[in-house]
Amino acid sequence: MNQDSLAYLPASKLARLLASGELTSVELSRSVLERAEHLNAQVNAFLGWDGEDLMAQAEASDKRRKADKALGFFDGIPVALKNNIAVKGSLLTCGSRMLENFVSPYDATVVERMKAAGMLVWGRLNMDEFAMGSSTETSYFGSTANPWDLTRTPGGSSGGSAAALAAGMSPITLGSDTGGSIRQPAAFCGIYGLKPTYGRVSRYGLVAFASSLDQIGPFGHCVEDVARMMEVLCGVDPKDSSSYPAPVSPFHAELELALTGGRPMVLGLPVEYFKEDGLDPAVRRAMDEVVAYYKGIGWQIKDVSLPNSHLAVPTYYVIATAEASSNLARFDGIRYTHRSESASDAVDVYFKSRGEGFGEEVKRRIILGTFVLSSGYHDAYYLKAQLVRTLIRNDFSKAFGEVDLVLTPTTPSPAFVRGERITDPLQMYLNDIYTICPNLTGLPAISVPCGFASQNLPVGFQLIAPHFEEVRLLTAARAYEKGNDWHTRHPAL
Ligand code: GLN
Repeated sequence: MNQDSLAYLPASKLARLLASGELTSVELSRSVLERAEHLNAQVNAFLGWDGEDLMAQAEASDKRRKADKALGFFDGIPVALKNNIAVKGSLLTCGSRMLENFVSPYDATVVERMKAAGMLVWGRLNMDEFAMGSSTETSYFGSTANPWDLTRTPGGSSGGSAAALAAGMSPITLGSDTGGSIRQPAAFCGIYGLKPTYGRVSRYGLVAFASSLDQIGPFGHCVEDVARMMEVLCGVDPKDSSSYPAPVSPFHAELELALTGGRPMVLGLPVEYFKEDGLDPAVRRAMDEVVAYYKGIGWQIKDVSLPNSHLAVPTYYVIATAEASSNLARFDGIRYTHRSESASDAVDVYFKSRGEGFGEEVKRRIILGTFVLSSGYHDAYYLKAQLVRTLIRNDFSKAFGEVDLVLTPTTPSPAFVRGERITDPLQMYLNDIYTICPNLTGLPAISVPCGFASQNLPVGFQLIAPHFEEVRLLTAARAYEKGNDWHTRHPAL
């Protein structure tokens, strides 16, 4: 099998080929490397990789399999990570000059879990600096291109993770999602992306942006890939006190059972979301077709109201910046970060190192976050935002009294042109209008590919479930996937 024939095969299909002996992990890894070497100059999804290390891991996996000691379904499958997830001995830059030379001394819990499952952890993926952005343009290491149209952004902040998967450069990738950073790039790149329930996946070893919102999650070519990755990633972790001991079941099997034996679901359409003037006609059309599809398989569609949703973006930008200003205080030029060469005294080290090390967007957020936490403004902004957060959470609880899942567009428009919004932060922030609520409420949500706008640009829809109901989420996504083949189309690269 050559590079191109393997490139777009879902990881679960590749895993079956490995299990049946039709493919070895060495062959697969070689083809992954060749393709990354061939395409990365155009796409800039990867910040780097260690090919020798990948091949050594692949050989070890093949050996295990030969001895009948495969560690799990995904043993031998390469997985590439957003560069804010710690891998021992590997650069952990977060897309920032501040951490340009920082090598992680330990593995994130998700990395330990993937290694324990036999997966080949390789490749550092590009991202917006410290995950702040929606276009992967704030990276210190250059922006990433959308494989469907290289003049456009892949979304962000996990743009490298989405672009690498969509371009067939790695069969599985991981990202992190604080306000939409997995789902929005998944929609822009025509693939699946899941943000788990807050507390489902350990954040230990994920460089913190906004700790009460951040979650790690997978990108995949099909629902089964995402479901099986969740089985690897999920679980309580004593190293992350916000992780929750929810049972981790064989999601992929459960969702198939639910699909065949379960009752038709009721999906809620938030009336407020479709009033927005900003909704692109192509996205609206795609949503109408999604609704028609679900009705066609006998599911019920119901209007629901999320009356406080219009407050989500401002609330997010108070809470996320407040937490970021505190989390990023540790990057001070004294410890593991960039240190200015021109500093003359200790205070100067702080000023100049942070001044040089952080990019513009990160500085904007730190300043904003420090302001909303400052005495005199704390109650008016930060506290108020926390109260609104509760209102939004209550809106969803009420909606889930009437429906099984909430159905929305993932983004108001398909991928925008690189450079178009980077000078207008507000325009950029408004891109997250549909994805932010699941972070503020901790709810799990998935983006599902559902068609193309003009110029062959992918469109995605979002499903949101009650806490820890990932199986329900995946079941509904699978029900859609069964009758639609959008996810099987790939960019011509
Ligand atoms: N685009 C949002 C932001 O800029 C969300 C980023 C994220 O989810 N990491 O903050």
